[in-house]
Amino acid sequence: MTNKDLADLIFPNITKTIKDYEEMYPKRDLSEGAVVTRFAPSPTGFVHIGHIFSSFVAKKAAKDTNGVFFLRIEDTDQERIVDGAITNILKDLSDYDITFDEGMVSETEEKGSYGPYLQSKRKEIYHTFIKYFLENGMAYPCFCSKEELVEIRNAQEKRKDRIGYYGRYAKYRRTPIEEAYNRIKNGEKFVIRLKSPGDFEKKVTVKDLVRGNITFPENDMDIVIMKQDGLPTYHFAHLVDDYLMHTTHIIRSDEWVSSLPVHVQLFSMLDAKPLKYAHLSPIMKDDNGTKRKLSKRKDPECAMHFYHEKGIPTEAVKLYLMTLANTNFEQWMDANKDKTIDDFEFSFNKISKSGGLFDMEKLNNISKNCLSRIKACEFYEMLVNYTKEYDEEFYKLITKYKDFTIGLLNIEREQKKPRKDYAAFSEVKELVWYMYDELFGKHEKTYEFTNITDKDEIIKVMKTYIEKYYDEEDDQTTWFEKIKDLSEEFGYAREVKEYKENPDNYKGHVGDVSMVIRVALTTKAMTPNLYDIMKLFGKNRIIKRIEELEKNI
Ligand code: GLU
Repeated sequence: MTNKDLADLIFPNITKTIKDYEEMYPKRDLSEGAVVTRFAPSPTGFVHIGHIFSSFVAKKAAKDTNGVFFLRIEDTDQERIVDGAITNILKDLSDYDITFDEGMVSETEEKGSYGPYLQSKRKEIYHTFIKYFLENGMAYPCFCSKEELVEIRNAQEKRKDRIGYYGRYAKYRRTPIEEAYNRIKNGEKFVIRLKSPGDFEKKVTVKDLVRGNITFPENDMDIVIMKQDGLPTYHFAHLVDDYLMHTTHIIRSDEWVSSLPVHVQLFSMLDAKPLKYAHLSPIMKDDNGTKRKLSKRKDPECAMHFYHEKGIPTEAVKLYLMTLANTNFEQWMDANKDKTIDDFEFSFNKISKSGGLFDMEKLNNISKNCLSRIKACEFYEMLVNYTKEYDEEFYKLITKYKDFTIGLLNIEREQKKPRKDYAAFSEVKELVWYMYDELFGKHEKTYEFTNITDKDEIIKVMKTYIEKYYDEEDDQTTWFEKIKDLSEEFGYAREVKEYKENPDNYKGHVGDVSMVIRVALTTKAMTPNLYDIMKLFGKNRIIKRIEELEKNI
């Protein structure tokens, strides 16, 4: 009896060979140096910033080299599958412009000629490879029950030996083929294990594109390559899939670093060209002075809906991720303000080894910059989309007063140094509520008067201003001249300079009077350009605001 008999017994229907598959999936026609890489999530339903980060890096690496980026769904752990997870993944990624050249495009459909891209659809392919391993004595069936595995473990603990299924502990490694054959024939349950050729005393060095050379002992564990349910384990699927899909680079999270000896061994057992690996460190967080991994449980910013709900533009998140990805990006961005991420040349050796620190303040600053550069109309459209989902009241207002809102958003925008008021769409309403009568009416009002606080004086200034000086048609210079006239009438200096030279001659200066007008109309001491605000208001609304002031002050 030979290994082949055993392999035929286990896989009677597998008639194809590895060679057949090699022919079906020929070498890709790409130029030298093109990166072929993938994002390979399990369909567990939750997309976090770590996923976005690694797929973002992978896509950039492929795009920069005219390579290929594909989506493979790793659903071999059938218990963890969540309904609709692929749709979720596709949606969350596409929000950040992470799209794929090949792979799954919906729960059931895919594109590209190196598929199937859903692992559960690749059973026959895996079986062909496992059969080859069996035939060549590189794998064997193992009949260990859970209890037996616990016994092995206990014995190892007692002897203070390494834990695992290897060497003399590998109970079924040396089982005669005939015995294995009969057990299977009798319907005994089994898994298939790798017959590892490794020697733990020997070292293997792998070059990681982020971490440099990493030296490990060779793998000597007879790891499971096919589970009882007939599906391969992650390690074996990685070998088969990335071999046939002609992946060149594995960009994944660093939880897989410790599996490298197994992966390198599997590829060499198949005589396949070794892959390039880039293991990304997790995004870190400063938690009261201690650095720790960003956590799904503790940190809301870990989940992508956090950015959605806040209305942080995706462009800002992308730029921010790039600062985490390549340590030289921020400097490049400052020096190339008119360029985009696509113009930046990504490099693996500029990825931080220790993991970028998540910095909300930095993200907010990037976001403010981004939002300040968007044209008012475009900003308006984005705000409409955001409020439609998250703030019905504001949505109704801004769509009812479309031109007014665009005008408001346009104040000090589309100029060399635009205002940087907003880091997120959720901040807009709380910063401009006073512009809308409907919100002004019901908002709690605290007038932020500064230097001039006397109520009678304030009311008198405002009334005189509207009756005697204000004219809707005035241009900004005339408008300001009139505020100067008003200031003079009330005993305030026309110019700040005059006041500073002779403070005793005046009650204050034109700036103080402007502040009175600003606060009287908006309640706020800080607003965008007052002239523009008043222009948007028009005389009637200004009169109404003065009436409100009298009631509330
Ligand atoms: N399915 C694995 C994961 O979700 C993929 C790791 C890899 O990219 O190789 O972590």
